[in-house]
Amino acid sequence: MSATSSIEWTDATWNPVRGCTKISPGCKHCYAEVFAERWRGIPGHAYEHGFDLRLVPEKIAAPFSWATSKLVFVNSMSDLFHDSVPEPYIGRVLDAMWLADWHVYQVLTKRAERLADLWPRLLGVRSPRPPKHIWLGVSVEDRKYGVPRIEHLRNTPAAVRFLSVEPLLEDIGVIDLRGIDWVIVGGESGPGARRMQTEWVRSIRDQCKDAGIPFFFKQWGGVRKNEHGRELDGRTHDDMPERSCAKYPGRAEARRRLGSRR
Ligand code: SF4
Repeated sequence: MSATSSIEWTDATWNPVRGCTKISPGCKHCYAEVFAERWRGIPGHAYEHGFDLRLVPEKIAAPFSWATSKLVFVNSMSDLFHDSVPEPYIGRVLDAMWLADWHVYQVLTKRAERLADLWPRLLGVRSPRPPKHIWLGVSVEDRKYGVPRIEHLRNTPAAVRFLSVEPLLEDIGVIDLRGIDWVIVGGESGPGARRMQTEWVRSIRDQCKDAGIPFFFKQWGGVRKNEHGRELDGRTHDDMPERSCAKYPGRAEARRRLGSRR
């Protein structure tokens, strides 16, 4: 778990899984792969196996050690719903989120079908109601692969559903925002970044405004993203859903909960 994050829409990252495989055009310049492969073959480094997918069970307990409430991006370096992550392991990650409920978790996936298939079953053994402190999101980079994920997300029980429209690769047109609580938009950054057009972003911003949905504009991106900033039409857009989570219960109770996991 990293206590801070440079990602604009979160406070911290937590990676109980490391590594992934590409599934759609949005993965082409995956920042996680670039970072992980840099360390391949370095003995003892967290990414000594590069971007090969690995479960990291020793990281599951990490949220219990944080006394301060955080927005936590779950698996910034992987995809929790990757086919190679066994369902019982996803259940263990959910248990940790469930019990360390003084944080708000942002679970983002491109494997929306598997999310829709597994999540109701995993939740069902714990509570009939989705917890307020676990947000579920899907990536939406284009019409062909990204937009169909929205329907799977809509069919998945969650207190907060969000779209990460990044990297936005084309005009995705009119999207059905029913049941969606938050939209993030961003352009690709780094070497070979594909350019995002202003009109594509405005279209999504305006749709969010009409639907009364918080809109967060992360960045324009580009090969040198700092040169382009994150203003759209003269201002930043940093709207987010309201956070709802429990208070930190104290160290002794946090330890007790840690020990009570299935
Ligand atoms: S799903 Fe995400 S983590 Fe996995 S390869 Fe694609 S961009 Fe990278």
